[in-house]
Amino acid sequence: MGIVVENVSKQFGSFKAVDNVNLEIKSGSLVALLGPSGSGKSTLLRVIAGLEPPDTGKIWLTGKDATNTSVQDRNIGFVFQHYALFKHLTVRQNVAFGLDIRKTPKLKVKARVEELLNLVQLGGLGDRYPSQLSGGQRQRVALARALAVQPQVLLLDEPFGALDAKVRKDLRAWLRRLHDEVHVTTVFVTHDQEEAMEVSDEIVVMNKGRVEQVGTPAQVYDNPATPFVMSFIGPVN
Ligand code: ADP
Ligand code: MG
Repeated sequence: MGIVVENVSKQFGSFKAVDNVNLEIKSGSLVALLGPSGSGKSTLLRVIAGLEPPDTGKIWLTGKDATNTSVQDRNIGFVFQHYALFKHLTVRQNVAFGLDIRKTPKLKVKARVEELLNLVQLGGLGDRYPSQLSGGQRQRVALARALAVQPQVLLLDEPFGALDAKVRKDLRAWLRRLHDEVHVTTVFVTHDQEEAMEVSDEIVVMNKGRVEQVGTPAQVYDNPATPFVMSFIGPVN
């Protein structure tokens, strides 16, 4: 499902967190929202999700104006940095949660959950509880849970932010492979240039609530459009 963000602004008090953003995210692509802390990435993601209404502007999903539709009607899956799994439920029950509340037939749930656990390479760990998993494994359960209801869009807000460097690196490569398999339109927030470069088809560079540049990792790296992009993306020495 393609996403169009049209003239979206969002203010908190007198502070413009998102300042007239225009953006087109192609169906099936993996896009990074990259920018420093406070640049409006999470706010923009929440507006796309329908968790936060924009002050002005529109969100279009698959060519339809979705600005006033509820979160549930947008067919979107989320994973946040500290996305709490249900502690008292097993991995399998966590992944099944969204299917159960939609009254999916039991046999269907069982098959789908096994398929998802294999997809996130957690086959065999279905009976464990979150406390018995590593941080990286927990985030993979969160992803499987988000994917369970077959969303047309996946929104990830610094999903690996809380993990250590080695695990983050593994998960990046893994997310890329997962996306190549599933092809769900994915918007991925990060403040880590390397992460954005390595994982995404396109990078949206944000600063102070505005979009500074949109391009492939190579375009953004080779031809930074503004001094900000140059200094933020530029080769680290
Ligand atoms: P990022 O995800 O890029 O770090 P955010 O979108 O979270 O940026 O926040 C952008 C700015 O908006 C920050 O300065 C933050 O303090 C402010 N902000 C975000 N959400 C709220 C809110 N609910 N109330 C007040 N200010 C907020
Ligand atoms: Mg944020």
